[in-house]
Amino acid sequence: MRQEYPIKCTHGDHKICKHCSRYKMVILLKNGCDDMKDTDPSGKKVNPVRYSYVSKNRKPVETVIAGMLHRFQNNVLMKFTNVIHFYENEPGGQLVAEKRF
Ligand SMILES: [Zn+2]
Repeated sequence: MRQEYPIKCTHGDHKICKHCSRYKMVILLKNGCDDMKDTDPSGKKVNPVRYSYVSKNRKPVETVIAGMLHRFQNNVLMKFTNVIHFYENEPGGQLVAEKRF
């Protein structure tokens, strides 16, 4: 695990960055919702992934997750979501939380 997380993206000052964000959430959709999934570069359907705000990288994990869940309430995917898994956004990152709906 990295010792010190950056609170500013170094790839163009993105608020959310798949390299700099500390946490990511993987959205596991209900059965039959494959058309709501994202498409990866090879054309495969994959579970949507969202990243936390880089500026919140040093906040407690509970705070970051609460913020992400709060914003997700308004997401069109919400009513098609079964489970959300939160991971540390790094290779081999640990599952840090799970939210079931
Ligand atoms: Zn970045």
